[in-house]
Amino acid sequence: MPFEVPVLIVGGGPVGLTASILLSQRGIRSLLVERHPGTAILPKARGINARSMEMYRQVGVEQQIRDAGLSPERTGFIIWTESLSGREIERRIPGRMSAANRSASPVLNCLCAQDYLEPVLRRFAEELAPAELRFNAEMTAVIQDDQGVTATITDRLDGSETAVKAQYVIAADGAQSRVRKLVANKMIGEEGVYDSVNILFNADLREWTADRPAALYFVEQPELRATFLTINAHDRWSFLIHSLKHYGYTPRDFTPDRCIELIRQGVGKPDLPVDILGVSVWEASAMVADRYRDRRLFLAGDAAHEMPPTGGFGMNTGVQDTQNLCWKLAAVLKGQARPALLDTYHTERQPLGQLITRTSLENSLSMGRTARQDSAKLPRSEFLNEQGLIFGASYESTAVVPDGSAIPVNPDPITQYVPTARPGSRAAHVWLERGGEKVSTIDLIGGRFVLLAGAEGQAWCDAVHHLASAQRPEMVAHRIGGDAALSDPNGVWRRAYEIEPTGAVLVRPDGYIGWRSARGAADPTAVLSKVLDSILSIG
Ligand SMILES: Cc1cc2nc3c(=O)[nH]c(=O)nc-3n(C[C@H](O)[C@H](O)[C@H](O)COP(=O)(O)OP(=O)(O)OC[C@H]3O[C@@H](n4cnc5c(N)ncnc54)[C@H](O)[C@@H]3O)c2cc1C
Repeated sequence: MPFEVPVLIVGGGPVGLTASILLSQRGIRSLLVERHPGTAILPKARGINARSMEMYRQVGVEQQIRDAGLSPERTGFIIWTESLSGREIERRIPGRMSAANRSASPVLNCLCAQDYLEPVLRRFAEELAPAELRFNAEMTAVIQDDQGVTATITDRLDGSETAVKAQYVIAADGAQSRVRKLVANKMIGEEGVYDSVNILFNADLREWTADRPAALYFVEQPELRATFLTINAHDRWSFLIHSLKHYGYTPRDFTPDRCIELIRQGVGKPDLPVDILGVSVWEASAMVADRYRDRRLFLAGDAAHEMPPTGGFGMNTGVQDTQNLCWKLAAVLKGQARPALLDTYHTERQPLGQLITRTSLENSLSMGRTARQDSAKLPRSEFLNEQGLIFGASYESTAVVPDGSAIPVNPDPITQYVPTARPGSRAAHVWLERGGEKVSTIDLIGGRFVLLAGAEGQAWCDAVHHLASAQRPEMVAHRIGGDAALSDPNGVWRRAYEIEPTGAVLVRPDGYIGWRSARGAADPTAVLSKVLDSILSIG
């Protein structure tokens, strides 16, 4: 008898682990299989952007991630230098850290190395779904038909095989995704943009870093283009050497002794004690699957898009893919939405995946990663200043009900974030008050449908209660302003959301506005019922 489960998640990286958490929190059973014995042993991603941290805050794991990561003082600026002990070339404050940009969210970004992050996500996922994460378990075959998906899971310890039957598969199996070949017709973009090596090591670099703690230290030497990244702000570091072939390196060159030599060269200290912990050679690509879905199979994370790490978007885009996908899968599996809703995963995420991948590529091109450089080449000003992309992304699909309003004018959608409540956009952060305490709109939403109504919008809130039933996804309503428990000091919320006191917005479980009515309606229950049907592809 095959093992049966509604959703099979292939891959236990950050994207698969996040999908497991999001499904469990929506009451959907899943089985996660990961071919390795445990979570990542080498760090790759480190920057979790504020949008992803908003999601982790909403699911309840924000603090655990912050405890595992670096304190915010580590993220203050970026340094370019001839060597760690040598002449500093330039120092920049990333645009993402400016006061104006910080006001976009109640949540700060976080630097937490992937090998520290994944155990946190794994623990949290296992608490929610005991025994439903299997390690040393590789998906070795998968077929789908009208009834479901059948996958073969091979135990890597004893070679035994288990058949798993699922309704849907989330392929979070990384850049070498096996499932991708079954879903995508082609990858759009460039493969092998540049090559790089990631060296994890122990050394005490405080002498050159303690008084100028930076998120990144770029080393610019004629024969060595590299970056030091702190993992624990003390003695654990990552050293990335870029564009290997343009400087005459081959992957075989990175023996432990050679790595020590190169790290010492990067520091400018020939006798520095260094202990090598791991070496990984990799290639940056900029490619996006032309399709994110084929019937019951969904690509998420690096399986769907590979991008250079210049900008720190790969993992962030991946975990946000699952934020978009999991509420839709849950609604369909509970019979609250029609399967056509699942088409909107591709419609909403694939174009954004392409835009983010292109932006990451342009960052790396501006840093001269694809050719040998005669002198230091500093990145374009957009690098780590992509606030517009992080918060301003918006969707157009059948899971959004347009209200006829125009897209707000934005001279630079990559770096500039223009808050808006136009349907399809992220519900903007605004500070409200409850019982004298500040409350962000971000803390009111997430995980379920949330209606936010103006001070005179009680009829909309009543409509939410009238519509509540097992056939509908969970919904809550908040009235804001007037005599409501939530107040809107100075009318900031109502102006930001552009509604009259009688109006309302409906925020989807992923934090995006699904519908907005600037004012009241004659029959709010009928209107809201139609809106939900439309978002959920019913009727
Ligand atoms: C140097 C570097 C720095 C980076 N910095 C950042 C950053 O700051 N911010 C950011 O957002 N991103 C960053 N990234 C990108 C980020 O690391 C990736 O985007 C992220 O790891 C993707 O997560 P994932 O879960 O999709 O894939 P992965 O992390 O690759 O996980 C996929 C998992 O699937 C498993 N798997 C594969 N096939 C199977 C199978 N058949 N059966 C079972 N298991 C399987 C694999 O073993 C693996 O554990 C960086 C990348 C690099 C290389």
